[in-house]
Amino acid sequence: MVEHERIQPAVAGEAQTNRAETCMDRDQKRGRTKPLSAAPLPSTASGDDHRLRAILRQSPLIVYTLDRNGIVTMMEGHDIEPDLLNTKDIIGRSLDDLSGIFDIPDLQALMEKVLNGENTRTVIQIGEQYYEAQSTPLRGLNGIEGVIGIAYDVSSWKKETDALQDARLTNRDILEDIEDGYYEIDLKGNYTLVNSALARILGCSKADLLNGKPVSFRSFTDDVTAEAAERAFDHVQRTGKPIRAFESKVVRADGSITYIELSISARRDEREKLVGFRGIVRDVTDRKAVEEALAQRMVLLSVLQQVDNELNHALEVEKVLKVALNAAVILSNAETGFIGLIKDNTVIVVRAAGTGEERVYSANLPTGAGITGRAMRLRQPQRVIDVSVDPDYINDIPDTQAEIAIPLITHDKLLGVINLETSHPEQFTEAIFEHVQMLTSRVAPAIENARLYELSQEQLGAMRELEQLKTDMIRIASHDLRSPLGIILGYLDILSFDLEPVLTEEQRGYVDAIRRAGERIQRMSTEILSLERVNALRNQPRAPVSLNELVLKTIVEHRDEARQKDINLITQLDTTPMEVMADATSLPEAIANLVGNAIKYTLPGGFVTVRLAREGKDSALFEVIDTGVGIREESQTRLFEPFYRVKSEETAKIDGTGLGLYLVKRIVEQHGGTLRFSSVYGEGSKFGFTMPLGQPQGESQK
Ligand code: ADP
Repeated sequence: MVEHERIQPAVAGEAQTNRAETCMDRDQKRGRTKPLSAAPLPSTASGDDHRLRAILRQSPLIVYTLDRNGIVTMMEGHDIEPDLLNTKDIIGRSLDDLSGIFDIPDLQALMEKVLNGENTRTVIQIGEQYYEAQSTPLRGLNGIEGVIGIAYDVSSWKKETDALQDARLTNRDILEDIEDGYYEIDLKGNYTLVNSALARILGCSKADLLNGKPVSFRSFTDDVTAEAAERAFDHVQRTGKPIRAFESKVVRADGSITYIELSISARRDEREKLVGFRGIVRDVTDRKAVEEALAQRMVLLSVLQQVDNELNHALEVEKVLKVALNAAVILSNAETGFIGLIKDNTVIVVRAAGTGEERVYSANLPTGAGITGRAMRLRQPQRVIDVSVDPDYINDIPDTQAEIAIPLITHDKLLGVINLETSHPEQFTEAIFEHVQMLTSRVAPAIENARLYELSQEQLGAMRELEQLKTDMIRIASHDLRSPLGIILGYLDILSFDLEPVLTEEQRGYVDAIRRAGERIQRMSTEILSLERVNALRNQPRAPVSLNELVLKTIVEHRDEARQKDINLITQLDTTPMEVMADATSLPEAIANLVGNAIKYTLPGGFVTVRLAREGKDSALFEVIDTGVGIREESQTRLFEPFYRVKSEETAKIDGTGLGLYLVKRIVEQHGGTLRFSSVYGEGSKFGFTMPLGQPQGESQK
């Protein structure tokens, strides 16, 4: 119904007149003299006029006229911001007066322009809306009488262009603000948009890039990388899928090298047609350096680990040298290298790698000469980046430009030197130098170990020969002597029996001497045999043996001997059953030996006490205590050595081999027992052992 009301011309006209008067009054007060002229459109009463106004109101257009003073004389058409103002409320008011509603920049100048006969076009803001107003001079009979114009709502267009403008500004600001480079290229590879960061990363100016100076990727990098990049762009073009990170090396105009990572996305126009590419370019040089250092570290670690493994198992010097030199060459990227070892004041090149191997393999270096000589003399690793200016350098390999020489030192002993050479001085960095030193610190002890091992192998060979000789001797002593000795003693018995009636006293003495000597040899051979058996005892099966029975049996066997020597044999035997896991031949031998010795080294009238007792829950204690000659303190430590006999007046006439106690010690230990011994010279001795009951636990003492 609103529309209907609006097409009531009379009402509109009246209102227009009333309001016009009011405005005019105001204008007059301000000193404006020209009265309001009639609306310049044809008579308001005409039917055509009505229709025209009705059409205008339906259209998005506003038609207006102003007089020379800027008073609105007609405004018809689409409502301007209906809430703010109705077009008909404006008639008769000056634009100045309406400045709170119409925001017209440079109104005065605009008016003047039109009144001077020009057309103008301006955007006017009314509330939230924007209108473009096109004004032309309104020519009447008296020339230019005012302004006539049309205005139409351009709000949405204005907002879009503003937003676009803003966006463009913001995007550009953002692009300039970010650390990363940004590029847009067309399909030919020409840059269409770049930011300063990109120019900085590539080492040129923005203008250079946009003017196509470095035309394509090829200007920045090597052929291989450029081809890979082209393939990447091609891939994006074909699949439409972006590539997030393509890594590339960049050689900048000044020759310096940077590493970049770029993303590649397809750029399309509004019809989705591919027009080029865009993406972010990131300088990853620092990251790359860290990655490279890490990679180098990984190589170092894996080489060192491998070297450690191999050196741990390498027992020959030759193998150690091979592993060491290979590792040093791998770690340093050296072209040539050698290891020299010192022998008789000469450095002998024992292993060489790289060119000239044949030539230097047999070379000997004068000690102290060259950079290697200096390294050995100062005992300091040397790294020379330019050998041509080093006074010590001996020009041996023509291409060499840099050299590393590291002395091989272990336990303060200088073994030799590792030498590495290259024609690419940049290869021998501080880090590489350190790595080779780390390697060398492992190699030097390994060489020493391998040398010692080789030496010990040689000595072992000699010892094996001796061992064989000893074994042969024992075989001869124990086996081969026994049968002829048995024959001698046997025939001696027959002869002495047959010749008994005719032998003189003196001759009987000779026969006795022969018998005693023979018996002594026999005893020695028996003990040597026992020793051999005890040494093999570890592998012999054990059986439960009753210590009670064994000790008792030994006492019985020695009773006569004691009686003959007028020795008092006393027994103190615990009757609790004591069983040990034992070798049935050797354990009785040990017990008999101790009882026999006590009787042997005790003078007539003395006492020998044999004791068997439990010690604690799990052990037995066997002891033989005598009141014999005793042993001087200085002799006591050697008692249990093989063939050791105490030399004293008291024992000079007592026969023995010096093997008995050694045998006892070995047997007791083989049964997991522990020896007990004490003696006071001139008073007597106590020999014995403790032994675990039941299952033996192996040797407790060696
Ligand atoms: P031997 O065949 O000489 O008896 P042993 O190895 O049995 O050899 O003894 C080594 C040395 O220890 C003996 O020569 C002797 O001097 C000394 N010895 C061993 N047992 C006693 C003991 N009960 N009293 C004094 N000395 C002893």
